[in-house]
Amino acid sequence: MASVGLASPLLLAGAGSLSPAFAEQPTASGSGFEVKQYKFGSFKVTIISDGATVQEKPWETYGTDQPQETVKSLLQRNFLPTDRFAVSYAPTIIDTGSEVILVDTGFGESLRSGGAGKMLQSLRAAGYTADKVTMVVLTHLHRDHIGGLMEAGAPAFKNARYAVNATEYDFWVSDERRGTPAEANHRMVLSHVKPLAAKTTFLKDGQDIVSGITAIAAYGHSPGHTILNIESDGKRAIAMADTAVHYALNLQRPDWEMRFDMDKAAAAVSRKRVLDMIATDRVPLLGYHMPHPSVGFLERRESGYNYIPASYQFET
Ligand SMILES: [Zn+2]
Repeated sequence: MASVGLASPLLLAGAGSLSPAFAEQPTASGSGFEVKQYKFGSFKVTIISDGATVQEKPWETYGTDQPQETVKSLLQRNFLPTDRFAVSYAPTIIDTGSEVILVDTGFGESLRSGGAGKMLQSLRAAGYTADKVTMVVLTHLHRDHIGGLMEAGAPAFKNARYAVNATEYDFWVSDERRGTPAEANHRMVLSHVKPLAAKTTFLKDGQDIVSGITAIAAYGHSPGHTILNIESDGKRAIAMADTAVHYALNLQRPDWEMRFDMDKAAAAVSRKRVLDMIATDRVPLLGYHMPHPSVGFLERRESGYNYIPASYQFET
């Protein structure tokens, strides 16, 4: 079980080593919450924000199979600091017209004192309320994706159904996680996800969640890590979840090992397959950990991909 660890960027780092990033930046709306809306066919996609954190020693997280200097020099080439890195968290609302679907929920109370857990406020800033959410899709069950399911011990989305990959759920609820590095996240799944089981659809690879949104297996980051293929009126996007976490390091060097990937070899295979599809099909990606507003494109390079943030492609 040694490979099972680091269930989320923050599980082992501990809240004490993190600091909020960007939280104080004013926004045009003055609400303090960056929200961004895009039209994909007849779907309205709204990127909300759970917050962002800063962590130290990037080489201990990305390119863990590479010399420290190699990681630092790639950061430098990307005009990034070499001693720290920011991670942002972008739950997404897909409004299909008949359903309001929230994809992943942020940290919730588990990191509210550490600069995250802002999903509900961000949701309201986007013009939604928690009781309008009809479905919550969980791409996987790490802490930064499930923490927002509960508030003060009660479901945060009282009118919602849920969907999660069956293998992912079975892994995390299992008693076999006790006494392993995965135990803390296991306990969080027991308190935040298991109580919702009666209202949950357990997904298989290739299963439609609603019309136009399909679950696709991309295992490795976690045992049932799932991405979403989103199609509406001939428009398509891929919600790649945690296929890549760092927009420069993971995308430019998809074969480098990443600390957060539970099965590193499988994650690298999935990463290369998914990124290749996004670049080849020239479809927009929604990236949970990509820099806000977390929508972009991939340009193929000699090694890996260059991230091109969306600008005005979706304006009509
Ligand atoms: Zn994550």
